[in-house]
Amino acid sequence: MGPETEKKNTEREALTLGIIGDPIGHTLSPLMHGIFGERTGTELTYTPYHVRSAGLEEAIRGARALGIRGMNVTVPHKSAVIPYLSSVDPAAERIGAVNTLVTEENGYRGYNTDASGLKRALEAAGTVLAGAHVVILGAGGAARAAVCMCASEGAAEVLIINRTADKAKQLAAEVNAACAVTSVSAAAMEEFLDADRQNGVKYLAIQCTSVGLAPHDDASPVTDPAFFERLCFAVDLIYRPYRTAFLKRASAAGVPVLNGLSMLLYQGADAYELWNPGIRLTDEDLDAAMRALNCAVLGVRGIFLTGFMGCGKSTVAHALAKRLSWEVIDTDLLIEREAGRSIPEIFAEEGEQAFRDRESMVLARIVRERLRGDRIGTGGVVVSCGGGLPLREDNRQAMACAETGRTVWLRVKPETVAERLAGDTSRPLLAGSAEEKTARITSLMAERGPVYASCADLTVDTDGRTPEEIAEAVVEGLI
Ligand code: NAP
Repeated sequence: MGPETEKKNTEREALTLGIIGDPIGHTLSPLMHGIFGERTGTELTYTPYHVRSAGLEEAIRGARALGIRGMNVTVPHKSAVIPYLSSVDPAAERIGAVNTLVTEENGYRGYNTDASGLKRALEAAGTVLAGAHVVILGAGGAARAAVCMCASEGAAEVLIINRTADKAKQLAAEVNAACAVTSVSAAAMEEFLDADRQNGVKYLAIQCTSVGLAPHDDASPVTDPAFFERLCFAVDLIYRPYRTAFLKRASAAGVPVLNGLSMLLYQGADAYELWNPGIRLTDEDLDAAMRALNCAVLGVRGIFLTGFMGCGKSTVAHALAKRLSWEVIDTDLLIEREAGRSIPEIFAEEGEQAFRDRESMVLARIVRERLRGDRIGTGGVVVSCGGGLPLREDNRQAMACAETGRTVWLRVKPETVAERLAGDTSRPLLAGSAEEKTARITSLMAERGPVYASCADLTVDTDGRTPEEIAEAVVEGLI
């Protein structure tokens, strides 16, 4: 078989996928499925198609005639497409909406992976639905999937609050009937907040309205602080912006939060496995896709954490990387690994300037390979920078020129540093007695503070905050 024939065979076997919706311009699904394909060695094309309601039936017939193996369906076609399918999965039928089409003998079979994706996202965040008290904001298509899923998973109570109260009542009645439960009911916000009716129960809130979607970043469907006091966890199905005003309010009230990106990831993963029955995506595959999704939504591929030694850069880097499914690069550790010697040894044997040269080379390489590389999946790094790294003009320029990077100064008080580094003998710049150490910290910080400030896109105070709180402040500050 010649190379020409080989190429044709590969082309014929490539998996053809697509997504239909109106609008469809900002979809992240091609990025996500491209990564799944690359990771699982599946050659595929995934194309967004702008399909208006009037052309829906024709689009489905055309897709089938063209041999498109699988489709995602998004707003506003998730329910309207059902009459044009050859069959519908029973779970999707109960929800009354599909978002994934899989080719079968006589047409497409419809599935709803929004519901299964939300379930997996909640489970991954440590939420237990069985016996939970859930409050759902909204009664549109996404809310329908969320309500059905929570009811099916055995939530003790699912309360729907919607601007149009009748739609909430109708949805509650429909889901109770379809899922054979009595746990779903509709309520007005005033009833939910009524102090006399409160029973001390904490609610999982799932925000399913379109309020707060970019560019209306400041809008929140609820503003009353009393609402957030009643929550144990808050989810927003929106992921643009990365943190909605709703989630910012919840977070400020001390409630753990989750945006809609992990639901997007898991609904995509479930769809991918339906299209590829022999393939199970691994945690590493999901992490790779999540890393890229976070880069795309934040518009950033790398975060440089700078600050004085002892400000917590490494710990915060790991907390931040965990939150974003990104990788951590610690410039000091990388230099030690590549040199095969510890930093005190490099200082002693080569001198400080040689160490600084190594630092500059490492930074330039990170910027070139991870922040500027155009291959998908190369971004997504939190760089814990050595405390002296921003002192060089070249390094500051390298960080500033990486337009996909952001520099964050983790500011800390001298007394906190002195306390944290009291027993630490590994810092060449802080050798000497306790008094000498404190004096050196104070003078070095006075010298370096203005340098850190001059190259920071964001300054975050770290004293008295946990690494997770600092990571959240970094994320919120960068969007
Ligand atoms: P939809 O069917 O159009 O429903 C919109 C809902 O928002 C309705 O309940 C509507 O209330 C409410 N709403 C709209 N404007 C409002 C306002 N100004 N004040 C109060 N309520 C308002 O939309 P959908 O398909 O359910 O999608 C909802 C959101 O979920 C979208 O932002 C979408 O991006 C997101 N979503 C995310 C994922 C994911 O994977 N993360 C998946 C699906 C959807 P009324 O009934 O009173 O009109």
